Amino acid sequence: MAEKRDYYEVLGVSRSASQEEIKKAYRSLAKKYHPDVNKSPDAPEKFKEINEAYEVLSDPQKRQNYDQFGFSGVDGSNPFAGSGFSTGSFDDFGDIFSSFFGGDGFGRSSSRSSRSANAPRQGEDRYLRLSISFLDACFGKKQTISLDVDEQCQRCSGSGAYSPSDIVTCPTCGGSGVTMRTQRTAFGVFQTQSVCPDCGGTGRKIRKVCPDCGGRGYIRRKQTIEVTIPAGVESGQKLRVAGKGERGVNGGPNGDLYLVIEVQPHAQFERNGRDIYLQIPVSAVDATLGTTVDVPTIHGDVTMKIPAGTQDGTQLRLKGQGIQASGRTGDQYCTVHVKVDDRLSAKERKLYEELQALQGSTPSKKSVWERFKDSFK
Ligand SMILES: [Zn+2]
Ligand SMILES: [Zn+2]
Repeated sequence: MAEKRDYYEVLGVSRSASQEEIKKAYRSLAKKYHPDVNKSPDAPEKFKEINEAYEVLSDPQKRQNYDQFGFSGVDGSNPFAGSGFSTGSFDDFGDIFSSFFGGDGFGRSSSRSSRSANAPRQGEDRYLRLSISFLDACFGKKQTISLDVDEQCQRCSGSGAYSPSDIVTCPTCGGSGVTMRTQRTAFGVFQTQSVCPDCGGTGRKIRKVCPDCGGRGYIRRKQTIEVTIPAGVESGQKLRVAGKGERGVNGGPNGDLYLVIEVQPHAQFERNGRDIYLQIPVSAVDATLGTTVDVPTIHGDVTMKIPAGTQDGTQLRLKGQGIQASGRTGDQYCTVHVKVDDRLSAKERKLYEELQALQGSTPSKKSVWERFKDSFK
């Protein structure tokens, strides 16, 4: 690490500057070097430096320590150095900067999406696979799911402390969340910064823990959640259940729960959106002469006419027999498979033989085979 610049030099103010002058200098520099605004590669480092300087010089106690002891007066290593960092002075600064000023003025966590260790954060989203039957996907259903959800502790609002006054500034790091060691060597001054081992970087300690949650700030509860699975849902679709994801951090809200739908296949029906597809067997005689059949649909059996002369592979539509979803209704498509009977009774065989003889001896009509042969001529 390069040698630290004097805090007054960083802010470009004199050692006798008033609080107002320091604040003004800080504001204009922070605006200039804020990484959201300034895209030059050294902006984040500059911004951090500016914040650090302001943290110290804006606090009369720390400024005095700094004036008297230099950097060692404010890095926690000096036993005479005073209280923790206050953050109240940043409140008026506006939203885009606020995330930097949660509690540790050193921008220590800027590598972690520029957020302070103590800022409330929403929990992670949680994904749960939900397998449902083909017909449930067609019609939708209400389903109850039970799962463990970490709820914020009501008693302490997630702080984990018995009362707000039991949250105290960490004495080890003075609230900064980091400990800094300055080593003077023949090669210069080296600063080593690390996460405070006492508070884990939060800058706070809890004197007396909340009895309800034991200091954790949350309570794990088994919850029964009723979800409405909409008709026409498809595999891979996600249903969001707000606030039932992983617990938030520092009193932030829970993440969301996403139910990832997995529709089980059906033995006969297939689906494409709202439309249903079904393969139906029809005997050669029925396909030839035509007939009426009761076709299964997702709504129950429906009578359908097979027209005379229906060929193998013909698709017949049953209008409105598909899935009703989002104000529209799909159809059912039946693909006809003409099946040849291979178990004829004696009488059937005799009739087929008569038919065969008849087809060969009708000069006015060409057989299927003759038409096929003609196509080679
Ligand atoms: Zn609690
Ligand atoms: Zn600490």
